[in-house]
Amino acid sequence: MDLSTQNIKYIPGVGPKKSEILKNEIGVVSWEDILYYFPYKYVDRSRIFKIREIDGNMPFIQLKGKIHHFETLGEGCARRITALFYDDTGSIELVWFKSLKMIPNLYKVETEYILFGKPTLFGSKLNIAHPELETEDKFFQGEVGVQGQYSTTEKMKDAFLHSRALQKMITAVFDNIRGKIPETLNSGIIGKVHLIDLDTALHNIHFPKSPDLLRQSEYRLKFEELFYIQLNILRITKAREQRFGGFIFSRIGDFFNRFYERKLPFELTNAQKRVIREIRQDTNTGRQMNRLLQGDVGSGKTLVALMSMLIAVDNGFQAAIMAPTEILATQHYETILNLTDGLGLEVRLLTGSTKKKEREKLLPAIQNGEIQILIGTHALIEDTVIFQNLGLVVVDEQHRFGVAQRARLWKKNDIPPHVLVMTATPIPRTLAMTLYGDLEVSVIDELPPGRKPVKTIHRYSANRANLYDSVRKQLQEGRQVYIVYPLIEESEKSDLKNLNEGFEHTKEIFPEYEVCMVHGKMKPAEKDAGMQRFVSGEARIMVATTVIEVGVNVPNASVMIIENAERFGLSQLHQLRGRVGRGADQSFCILLTRYELSENTRRRLTIMTETNDGFIIAEEDLKLRGPGDIDGTQQSGIPFDLKIANLAKDGQILSLARDMAREVLEDDPLLQKSQNTILSARLSKLNGKNQTGWFMIS
Ligand code: ADP
Ligand code: MG
Repeated sequence: MDLSTQNIKYIPGVGPKKSEILKNEIGVVSWEDILYYFPYKYVDRSRIFKIREIDGNMPFIQLKGKIHHFETLGEGCARRITALFYDDTGSIELVWFKSLKMIPNLYKVETEYILFGKPTLFGSKLNIAHPELETEDKFFQGEVGVQGQYSTTEKMKDAFLHSRALQKMITAVFDNIRGKIPETLNSGIIGKVHLIDLDTALHNIHFPKSPDLLRQSEYRLKFEELFYIQLNILRITKAREQRFGGFIFSRIGDFFNRFYERKLPFELTNAQKRVIREIRQDTNTGRQMNRLLQGDVGSGKTLVALMSMLIAVDNGFQAAIMAPTEILATQHYETILNLTDGLGLEVRLLTGSTKKKEREKLLPAIQNGEIQILIGTHALIEDTVIFQNLGLVVVDEQHRFGVAQRARLWKKNDIPPHVLVMTATPIPRTLAMTLYGDLEVSVIDELPPGRKPVKTIHRYSANRANLYDSVRKQLQEGRQVYIVYPLIEESEKSDLKNLNEGFEHTKEIFPEYEVCMVHGKMKPAEKDAGMQRFVSGEARIMVATTVIEVGVNVPNASVMIIENAERFGLSQLHQLRGRVGRGADQSFCILLTRYELSENTRRRLTIMTETNDGFIIAEEDLKLRGPGDIDGTQQSGIPFDLKIANLAKDGQILSLARDMAREVLEDDPLLQKSQNTILSARLSKLNGKNQTGWFMIS
């Protein structure tokens, strides 16, 4: 029986209306979909509490009792229905803010119900909002022990598709399945990894017969999920290797050598040398390079990029570097022009705001090979940009640049260019394996000599006045200062107000210095002008939002003050901090927060004050936030809603899954052997289902 072709619409009690909501809200259409919609937590349903026992600090609990009466209270959006629910030990208030008309009809007074809900303290009184109520006869037979809880959306709840309803639906689906649920992994893998079979795993993930079986089911399903992601990535890599050759950069020539001898302003760090060697080896094999270069802010990635591009040019190819923003692209352009001055190299800039006339001159020069190094934004991968022989593309700050975009690059030539993806946001290993599993990884784990680690300090905003003296001292020594404010869409108005007030306040405190302001809501020209005043040193203090997060290089800046630091994520704080400490002087990062902070926030601040190591910060960030929140993963074209595996916690299962996938493909690259039919069938099914283009292969 193919569960993925059986529509849940026909399960008793579902019907067209509810199935439409399930489809729109949680993407559940088939029997298979609902069976793979796993509980997000489990609660002990074996225990029924007495009202006397409850307090405001309990998880979801069960009560058994009756409704005494309903009452409608409040006006407008405060309108609500309450009910007094009692048992033989006391009473508690139930409250509904939605579906008000239906509630009194749905439940009867003086009828015994099993209630399921979470008691919360409302003022000094306990109540339970939107409880689930069931008469005892409808209450599941034989329902003991641990029960799954399913997450539901507001729309689902409005249609009475709450957790309990999903559970019933799943029971009905199981009842309708004849025989066992077909396996999705072959017996070789199941045996080697000691997995339980899929049928047992799916039954027990929804209705655990024992804690041990629940654990084994989770393990089996996590493995399966990660295994198919890895199998897919590795297959893409293999297929690409087989299909495409790569350009061979066989020699080091004039541009590289002259740059190295005459222009290179300093000794390369050992890490930079090693990475250049790795890139050199990669580009000389006849296979296309796909390399991820991780290096903390300020580790000198630009230089590595430039030297790799010079190798490409020396071998008669064009090279391009792509940055996520205009400002960054422009900065790269200026840096590279500067570094290569006098070498006779044709370097140009192409961005979204390049004037039409200029563009019309650029495009043919790119196509006839005149331009050797092209620097720009995403404008570079537009179809109108045709290269004569693009040999290497460097992508800076990859987290806005996923597999799908890289695939577009491969199409720019018959033979795809080598790709070097650079990121300053270190990606935890597990995430890298999943997101960029088809990339080789290089790491610059060494900062240029003479850099002093940034000193990071946490202070309460209320005590800010104490800071100004030390900030003024830095200014008197000629340094520059960043003051950063949060700006998020949802609270844009009040954020902008804070920013403006901060700007005015700063001008009052430091009347003797020029202060500029930059934020993302400004017109690009205004923004650039403000930025430019700071870069040139004319403005000594910049009040800004996170627009400065990526890439801006002002080595003279030595103080970074972050206002409302509690509102920033770890990797964002780290990125911001990376704007200072770029010169030889001691730099400071000051995190300002309010007094009351959540435990999670305190942890973030402590990590920031204790370490400058981007890799540790990335790992901690993943632990604290979960992978779904990592910057940019949404845009990376990869479905990040892993159903059960957790990249922060399941690193070992991931490694195992990767090893197994590799083993399978080494033995049978195209999955043609009979024992692998099951795997290739499952993979195609996953490919077919996913619209993000992630599971793309042919
Ligand atoms: P990032 O890795 O953040 O892109 P950059 O490439 O912008 O870092 O480099 C940061 C600064 O360090 C630049 O001013 C650059 O000129 C300088 N730099 C790079 N490599 C070295 C080196 N080997 N020795 C000294 N300074 C270096
Ligand atoms: Mg950079």
